[in-house]
Amino acid sequence: MLSAVVRNLARKSRLTNVHTTVKNLTAVTLTLRILMSKEMSSGSSGGDEVSKAQTAQPSAQPTIFSKIIDKTIPADILYEDDQCLAFSDVSPEAPVHFLVIPKKPLTGVGAAGPEDQMLLGHLLLVAKKVADQKKLEKGYRIVINNGPDGAQSVYHLHLHIMGGRQMTWPPG
Ligand SMILES: [Zn+2]
Repeated sequence: MLSAVVRNLARKSRLTNVHTTVKNLTAVTLTLRILMSKEMSSGSSGGDEVSKAQTAQPSAQPTIFSKIIDKTIPADILYEDDQCLAFSDVSPEAPVHFLVIPKKPLTGVGAAGPEDQMLLGHLLLVAKKVADQKKLEKGYRIVINNGPDGAQSVYHLHLHIMGGRQMTWPPG
């Protein structure tokens, strides 16, 4: 499928001017990126989070999560208080899959310090509260990915809470 896209581009670029070729290249790059991320996410271990984690980096730029906090990006918000926010994951890996994030822009659990002790405890208690609201009586899993090897894809600390199916061990 990828080679067909490239062949198609080569054929088109012979027929068109430079400007159109550049536009085509952009479109093909986008197509390739979508195809590649789909291929990587169809694997059995970790999906999109893993492929995104290969290139994700801590940065001063606002992350998608800070935009969810300031409501410039909509989300299915399940819980909110002055310290944190819980919302449904847009790419659920389980029948119930939501995230709990602090409003403080900590890049990850690795960036937390002693001053964050109360906040980290609060995030766990909110995870439990929302899990109870979601009626996960049979259990659930709480995951924090940290850094590339931990498959962290967004550099804003977040807890993944997943439930509604049997989890396996060891995780991928
Ligand atoms: Zn994540």
